[in-house]
Amino acid sequence: MVLIDGKKVAQDIRNEVQKEVANMMAEGRERPHLTAILVGSDPASETYVASKEKACEEVGFTSSIHRYTSFITEKELLDKIIEINNNPKIHGLIVQLPLPKHINERLVIETINPRKDVDGFHSVNVGRLTQRLPTYIPATPLGVITLIEKYNIPTSGKHCVVLGRSNIVGSPLSILMARNDYPGNCTVTLCHSKTVNLKAICKQADILIVAIGKPEYVTAEYIKEGATVIDVGIHRVPSTETKSGFKLKGDVKFDEVAPLCSYITPVPGGVGAMTIASLLMNTLWASKNAPEY
Ligand code: NAP
Repeated sequence: MVLIDGKKVAQDIRNEVQKEVANMMAEGRERPHLTAILVGSDPASETYVASKEKACEEVGFTSSIHRYTSFITEKELLDKIIEINNNPKIHGLIVQLPLPKHINERLVIETINPRKDVDGFHSVNVGRLTQRLPTYIPATPLGVITLIEKYNIPTSGKHCVVLGRSNIVGSPLSILMARNDYPGNCTVTLCHSKTVNLKAICKQADILIVAIGKPEYVTAEYIKEGATVIDVGIHRVPSTETKSGFKLKGDVKFDEVAPLCSYITPVPGGVGAMTIASLLMNTLWASKNAPEY
């Protein structure tokens, strides 16, 4: 069994991005700039945005954060997005989700210039993904396919089962794993809460990608011997074994599943470690005006 080291792959990517930025500076090109809009004071969102800011600094990007209280009106937020869209010095824009209830999240995403949409959530970019056109792949799916690629995991002709059909994880991964490329060329089955015989379907998977948002849901009974298991889930569960009083767990029951696998991602240190590195890759691409876009 090979344990996929997301932390190491992510660090390698950060180093590559840093080198590329240094080269761009040497050539007198513009420094990539990522902007985040943060509304309200959700602690998880604060943490994510702070980590993104730190990562930008480490690789040599500049970054900025526009903070608003949850009383901001939809119009004020949309006007800010339009202002950023029109600012040529800003290459990538992310609006940290979730947004307060009085703001239409879809409208906000659709207002972002698709070329600056480094989260890949705009319907133009989702459409481009389904049409197999170059686009911003959302950070978590991009992290998953990068891990598969870095570990040279065979995908062509394999049966890939994706467990979960969310817009940000499961659905894009089902498209990516079915495309005529590497990683890809899989026969894909996309499962969700209405799927009948879930266990039997998962047991047929050569590659099982799990993103259902339920701690340790997938047990050994779901796994075909020799499968590759990619665990996207991330949960803080109470624990008496740690000082902090919690432990991070995935959607997969790692201890019983790992011995059956040829490759598996741990939690933490697997897919989660890749998210920010993927965002950096997308922002770097945006700063070059997304040439193949
Ligand atoms: P989500 O939006 O809640 O979607 C969960 C999906 O799983 C849905 O499609 C749902 O089906 C399906 N599902 C739920 N229970 C099921 C069951 N018992 N059997 C079969 N399917 C079931 O979750 P998400 O945003 O995709 O996130 C999934 C997990 O990944 C979460 O643990 C999240 O924290 C984690 N995550 C990690 C990262 C990262 O590492 N950076 C990023 C994003 C998410 P329906 O569509 O029928 O409801």
